[in-house]
Amino acid sequence: MNTPEEFRERGYKIVDWIADYFTNIESFPVKPDIQPGEIKSQIATDFPEQPESFDDIFKDFEEKIVPGMTHWQHPGFMGYFPANNSFPSILAEMLTAGMGAQCMVWLTSPAAEELEELMMLWLRKAIGLPDEFTGVIQDTASTATLVAILSAREKYSHFAVNKSGFTGREKFRVYSSNQVHSSIDKAVRIAGIGEENLIKVPVNDDFSMNIDALKEQIEEDLKSGYRPLCIVSALGTTSSTACDSIDQIGQIAKAYDIWHHVDAAYLGTALILDEYRYLINGIENADSFVFNPHKWMMVNFDCSAYYVKDTDLLQKTFSIMPEYLKTDIDKQVNNYRDWGIQLGRRFRALKLWFVLRSFGLEGLKKKISAHIKLTKNFESFIARNGNFEILAPVVANLVCFRVFKLGWTEEIADRASSLLMSKVNQTGDFFLTHTKLSGKYTIRVVIGQTNVTEKQIESLIALIEKTLPEVINEVEDN
Ligand SMILES: *Cc1c(COP(=O)(O)O)cnc(C)c1O
Repeated sequence: MNTPEEFRERGYKIVDWIADYFTNIESFPVKPDIQPGEIKSQIATDFPEQPESFDDIFKDFEEKIVPGMTHWQHPGFMGYFPANNSFPSILAEMLTAGMGAQCMVWLTSPAAEELEELMMLWLRKAIGLPDEFTGVIQDTASTATLVAILSAREKYSHFAVNKSGFTGREKFRVYSSNQVHSSIDKAVRIAGIGEENLIKVPVNDDFSMNIDALKEQIEEDLKSGYRPLCIVSALGTTSSTACDSIDQIGQIAKAYDIWHHVDAAYLGTALILDEYRYLINGIENADSFVFNPHKWMMVNFDCSAYYVKDTDLLQKTFSIMPEYLKTDIDKQVNNYRDWGIQLGRRFRALKLWFVLRSFGLEGLKKKISAHIKLTKNFESFIARNGNFEILAPVVANLVCFRVFKLGWTEEIADRASSLLMSKVNQTGDFFLTHTKLSGKYTIRVVIGQTNVTEKQIESLIALIEKTLPEVINEVEDN
C-alpha cells in the first residue's frame, strides 16, 4: 500500500469496519474465553521477508486478533474503570496519526502547543479548578503522579538530587491512604525515594484517609528526622471511589510545608457536575492535580490532564536545554518537553478539542449524569435484595457489594461472591472485576461505558436475579 489512492480505498473500508464494530459490538463476548498463548500460537514467529498484501494482514486481524480482544467499548464492560472512546475522538486520532507530528516544542507543531494550552484551560474551568493551576497533557496518571513526586523531590532538595543524585542522607517520606493506586508505589520507586518511605495511612469506615493518623505519622516522622515530601490524596480510589478530604489534607500539607498532589484519575470527570464540586473544597491549597479524560470523558486512551501551580518549578525540574533544541521564541511559548518526562509528544489536544466541541459541556454533563442515575438504580436493586451487602458508599458510578446471608462465614461469602461474578462474566454479556474491601471479596460494578443504557442495567439485574439462587445453593451445599 504505497499510494494515497490505495490508502484511500483501505481507509474507507476501515472506517466501515469500525462503524460495523460499534453496531455489532454486543455480539462479541466482552472478555474472550481464551487461554494464555492461544493467540501467539496463531501468529508467525518471524517477520516476513517479503511484503504481504493488506488483504492478508487485515484478514488475520479479523480472524486472529479481534477474537482475542477484551472489548472495552462494549456497553457491558463494567470492570476496572472504563477507558472510553467516542466517534469524534477516533476521528481526531486518525488525523493525529495522519499528520504524524512531534509536539515536543512550540516550533515543532505550533498549533498543537497552542491548542493544548487552550484545552487545558477549557478543562480547568469545566472541573472548577482555581486560576492558579496550569495544565499540561501527560500520557497517563501514573506519569503525572511521578512528575508531581519528582517536582516535590527537587523543590525540597533544592534541586540537589537532580544535580548530584542522592547522598544517602535524604530521608524523604511520601504519604497516601492504604487504598492507594499502585502508580504511587511505582512513582516512589522510580523517584528513588524507596517504597519503604511510602507511608500508607489507615482509612476511615468510608475508606477515606484518616486525618488524625496522617497527622500523627507526620509528627512521628519529623521527630525521627524524616523530611515529609508529598501527600498524595485520592479523589476516587480505584477499589471503591473513596474520596480523601482534600480540604483537611491541604491544611496539613500547608502547615507542614509538604507537597499535596491530588489523584483524581477516574472521578475527576464527575467534577463537571456542580453537585460533585464539594469534593474539591480546599483545592486551592493543593500543589498538583491529575485526572484522566481517557477514562470517563470519552477521549480515547491516552490523555491525562495534569494541573500544577508552580510551572517554573516544574520546568526547572525537567528542563534540559541542549543547543539543538533551543529556539528564539522559547520565552514566549510553552515547550512542553520541559513539562514532563517525554521529549517526543503526541498531538493529544486534538482529540480533546473534537470531543469537547462535539459533546459540548452540556452534552458531557448529560452523559455523566445518566451514568450516575443508572448506577443509583442498580444500587437500589442491590440494597433491596436481602442477599447482598453494599460494602462502600456509592459516590458516583461504582457499586461495591458482595453476596451475604445471615449466618454465613466470611469464607462462604467470599466464595459466593466470586462465584456470582464468574457466572455473570461467563455469559460474555458483562465483564465485572473484583477488589477486596476490609478483607472481603467485593464485586465492583462500574456503570460508565460511553454507550451503556438502561437496557444493559435491566439485563444485568435479571441475570443476577436468575443466577443468585444457583450460587446460594452451590455454596450452601459444599
Ligand atoms: C486509573 C487510575 C490511575 C492510573 O491511571 P493511568 O492513567 O492508567 O496511569 C491512578 N490512580 C487512580 C485513582 C486511578 O483510578
